[in-house]
Amino acid sequence: MNIAVLGAQWGDEGKGKIVDLLTRHFSIVARYQGGHNAGHTVYAGGRKFVLRLLPSGILHEGITCIIGNGVVIDPQALFAEIDELDRAGIPAGDRLLISDKAHLILPYHRELDLLSEARRGERKIGTTSRGIGPAYEDKIARRGIRVGDLTNLDSLAEAVEHNVAARNRLIPDSTMDWRQVIDELKRSWDRMGRWVTDVSLFLSRARAEGRSVMFEGAQGTLLDIDHGTYPYVTSSNATIGGVCTGLGVGPRAIDGVLGVAKAYTTRVGEGPLPTELTGEMGNRLRESGQEFGAVTGRPRRCGWYDAVAVRYAVRVNGLDTLALTKLDVLDGLPELQVCTAYRCRGTVVPEMPGDFAQLSSCEPVYETLPGWSRPARGVRRFDDLPDEAKAYIARIEEITGVPASIVSTGSDREDTILREGSVAAEWFRR
Ligand code: GDP
Repeated sequence: MNIAVLGAQWGDEGKGKIVDLLTRHFSIVARYQGGHNAGHTVYAGGRKFVLRLLPSGILHEGITCIIGNGVVIDPQALFAEIDELDRAGIPAGDRLLISDKAHLILPYHRELDLLSEARRGERKIGTTSRGIGPAYEDKIARRGIRVGDLTNLDSLAEAVEHNVAARNRLIPDSTMDWRQVIDELKRSWDRMGRWVTDVSLFLSRARAEGRSVMFEGAQGTLLDIDHGTYPYVTSSNATIGGVCTGLGVGPRAIDGVLGVAKAYTTRVGEGPLPTELTGEMGNRLRESGQEFGAVTGRPRRCGWYDAVAVRYAVRVNGLDTLALTKLDVLDGLPELQVCTAYRCRGTVVPEMPGDFAQLSSCEPVYETLPGWSRPARGVRRFDDLPDEAKAYIARIEEITGVPASIVSTGSDREDTILREGSVAAEWFRR
């Protein structure tokens, strides 16, 4: 079985933990989009790892990890991550393959990112300023530099000289020297070269040999460049189509799609978030859910579970089932709200409006459900969950439209319930 695991909300859904947990069922884990802004947090062997660029499967022996062509790569960030894992005794470099068609983030992309966010002023997008957006811009403008281009640095020199000169004109006081950029690229290739391959071909052969693949998404559906809350989105396709374009596989290579959603909602940065709680309850969720960016430390905006948004993710991605994470964060709340529809200019709208600009003026329509006093934290069997928590999950499944196969009740790998007879349990039975 080849399964895609992706975010069903605004990112940070806890995909890292779920991917890490499921990895043992696969032979290959492949990332298809995004850059080193992803920031999956994984706890393993009592240690905390924040993976930005490397697929979460990298912690497991015997797993081949792939960075697809849909990803943009900052070589320095990649090396730093590999070095950190090396120091922890994890030989990441022995498990890694990188697409020759992946685009590179170069020093001028980082500078351009900072500059353009500063110039947007009030209209800022809330990017992580790591050069990811400008690298994708160059890809679309057909002036990007791809990993495979590094095999011939001589013919690359002209393009780099041209790109650096153009950026120096845009960036005040920039004196970037294209020769230094070339030198850096050469050093990068010396280290990266052994990982670079034709990923599409590799995956096709691997599948023919019966090896199974997990396709790992970064960010989330509502941050997708096309299907997210544009313009407050990331620069790539976090949704299911990104698997095909970002790795060079056909749609029939994907046997199932698992969406990861928190039992409430969070968002980092700007843009609409209909169920946002700005007062005390928002702080309560942020503190008990530790909702601070894994990479940036930025406080996340928090709100009640938005079933309209997750139902939209079910539609856009064809989700078969959900992994519902962080249920324990709701422990002890007397009652919970679930958003079942929006009220937009006086009209009740049951589905995500096509015009996202309208979304900021929509209000959630809530259904109130009882909370639970006995903790869900650390519960490892579904039957052992408090009755109200089971009822909350059942209602979420009903209005979201897909069953929750996995329920996560804590940050540890073991604090997870794979429900018997569920869609995901069937996938992994073999
Ligand atoms: P990702 O980018 O989707 O992987 O999400 P993040 O790594 O940014 O956020 C997930 C955070 O929540 C990590 O610190 C996880 O260890 C933690 N986490 C994941 N599942 C649970 C859960 O069920 N309960 C609690 N309390 N924390 C969880």
